[in-house]
Amino acid sequence: MTAAHKMERALVSRTIDGVIHYVNKDRQANLLHLIDVVEKIAGDMFSEKSYDGARNIVRDEDSKWMRYLYRLMDETDPHVLKMTALNLGFEAAYFGTKTIRENRRRYQCNIPWLILMDPTSACNMHCTGCWAAEYGHKLNLTYEELDRIITQGKELGIYFYMYTGGEPLMRKKDLIRLCEKHNDCAFHAFTNGTLIDDEFCSEMARVGNFSVSLSLEGYEEVNDSRRGSGSFSKAMEAMDLMKSHGLIFGTSICYTSKNVETVTSDEFLDMIIEKGCRYTWYFHYMPVGNDAAVELLPTRDQREYMYRRVREIRGSDGGKPIFAMDFQNDGEFVGGCIAGGRNYMHINANGDAEPCVFIHYSGANIREVSLLDALRQPLFMAYRDRQPFNENHLRPCPMLENPEILERMLKETGAVSTDLKSPESGEHLCGKCREYAENWAESADRLWRENGHHKEYYQNYKDVYKDSSAEKFH
Ligand code: SF4
Repeated sequence: MTAAHKMERALVSRTIDGVIHYVNKDRQANLLHLIDVVEKIAGDMFSEKSYDGARNIVRDEDSKWMRYLYRLMDETDPHVLKMTALNLGFEAAYFGTKTIRENRRRYQCNIPWLILMDPTSACNMHCTGCWAAEYGHKLNLTYEELDRIITQGKELGIYFYMYTGGEPLMRKKDLIRLCEKHNDCAFHAFTNGTLIDDEFCSEMARVGNFSVSLSLEGYEEVNDSRRGSGSFSKAMEAMDLMKSHGLIFGTSICYTSKNVETVTSDEFLDMIIEKGCRYTWYFHYMPVGNDAAVELLPTRDQREYMYRRVREIRGSDGGKPIFAMDFQNDGEFVGGCIAGGRNYMHINANGDAEPCVFIHYSGANIREVSLLDALRQPLFMAYRDRQPFNENHLRPCPMLENPEILERMLKETGAVSTDLKSPESGEHLCGKCREYAENWAESADRLWRENGHHKEYYQNYKDVYKDSSAEKFH
């Protein structure tokens, strides 16, 4: 860490202390002071409009999102709150983004903002249709390998690491060691929650830089039929424990033709909010793997319902006090597909560097090449050349909504299937998406025409980072 970096971190740290420790004394003034400090450090990295927008939100103390923020501040362990603001806010969003931009220009390739890794393919459960099962149960990234990826990542400006699997908490001791060693990074795990106990909650509160999303598919009957008897109640117990320790957590929900209405209902959302969830990720079901259940793909009407419902949940007027994100319908906020290292990449438990957790193809293994060279592999460069894959960000994916593009990229780059149990050809995978893509295109194009969308993030990084005039893109 350079001296300037240390000084900036110390200044932000002191200001955050002011917000947290004087939480009952003029917290609005302290939050406004924090925005002033961020503006002083980050300057024109963010537009003037963004700083003013943040100030206006803070001034309206009765608004939904300020009440959400105050509740978060009141109920979260102060150390967890501070580490989250410092590592996710200062390191990842500010310092990391600045470094990543320089490196994208220097290396002329995609550099992601976050890396998703599978510490293990092992899981303590055997869920129907889980992709983890495809890799078998014997693959692991060692502590040293995970440490090496993070160390190389930080040099490139990456300060946010997520884990999936397998069940990542099968390796919880190693994950806590990594939180200790890289205490300037934010870590997050997608977990079934069954291995979260009182001791682990204390460890998460002690390090302060580890949060989780619990996987749910619905209520007890649906959840247990897929994940095994007792899994729903264990997830609920895990939430109670984490809430009592003042931790930040949410849910990860795969929506399908069978559960989309249930997992977005008022009752379901009220239940997880009451349990202490601050956010919920929604992931569209993807027909990945030779034995994927294509009938679980949401229908065109269900997807349109999802598009409208998530915006309703998030709405400032009404809605729910939980931050909902839909990985497939929120492309407009991030410029479409974020994979291939554009904003994120996936490294599986065998070390294969894949563009996305749903795209099981690669031409580079992290055990054989550096992280930078994995980012420069032909498949990632093909992503970079073609992103965004569609001008309509409601059709972002080179697989689900534009299957002909992934099929072509796989052929052109020679990337091979990373599925060790049952390798699937690009033709087979993309063939399953064709009908869905054609159906959805009609609704997506209508929605895109009818509704106002964020249009400023259209540009391809390849063009953006040729010159220095486009600093606002990340
Ligand atoms: S490859 Fe598809 S699923 Fe993955 S980030 Fe891109 S759009 Fe999303």
